[in-house]
Amino acid sequence: MLRGKSEDEITLVRESSLLVGKTLAEVASLIKPGVTPLDLDRRAFEFISDHKAVPGFLNFNGFPNSLCISRNEAVVHGIPDNKPLLDGDILSVDCGVLFEGFYGDSAYTFAVGEVSSEVLMLLETTKKALCQGINQAIAGNRVGDIGFAVQEEAESKGYGVVRELVGHGLGRKLHEPPEVPNFGKQGKGTKLIEGLVIAIEPMINLGRKEITQLRDGWTIVTADRKPSAHFEHTLVVRKGKAEVLSTFEYIEDKLKDLV
Ligand code: MG
Ligand code: MG
Repeated sequence: MLRGKSEDEITLVRESSLLVGKTLAEVASLIKPGVTPLDLDRRAFEFISDHKAVPGFLNFNGFPNSLCISRNEAVVHGIPDNKPLLDGDILSVDCGVLFEGFYGDSAYTFAVGEVSSEVLMLLETTKKALCQGINQAIAGNRVGDIGFAVQEEAESKGYGVVRELVGHGLGRKLHEPPEVPNFGKQGKGTKLIEGLVIAIEPMINLGRKEITQLRDGWTIVTADRKPSAHFEHTLVVRKGKAEVLSTFEYIEDKLKDLV
């Protein structure tokens, strides 16, 4: 049986999720050609530590870094490396933190310098698909309503929706039930209850939906090596309208300043 979280528990997830948003904004302010993913990872580690929290992904199932940084054809779970960013790259930065016993989890895909209009459209659509999913995350709906909304937004543009990796519940653990796929059927799947805290995280491919894993044992890439985008929010299911606990506001304020 799923359990909705208490308001005290939700408050702690909110604090963790806000710190994730601030960390991603700190990372956003550094992103430009020439900077390396490891530079971004180091800054995130410092920033999270300075806020008396712990990077949620570091050592999680043996993951070696604080951020998952997935460039271009990498979908998710990329290990930060020391290859300088190039003009025209896109970069999914996924961040989790553990603060006062509760996790927050959020991801944003950034454009490095000038990105093709085709790829910008992929980023916009993936973010919109996330919003459509969130709109369905209301008490009484089902997990399939979320997946259906995400899938419809992405597939209407001809994009591939990754099937093998899914959103999830979270709280004292980074991954809790239920699984929240980015595809589904309306009215099907687990019923969403008030207080349920979940992360919705569409992974949308410019080309086909198929993925494969690199030999590093972590990085997931598109099988056709075309670009992939990933946006994620942590939210709590409420009556009528979900409350989004993470935020892109800090990130998008930083991005405005950089233009
Ligand atoms: Mg994440
Ligand atoms: Mg997640």
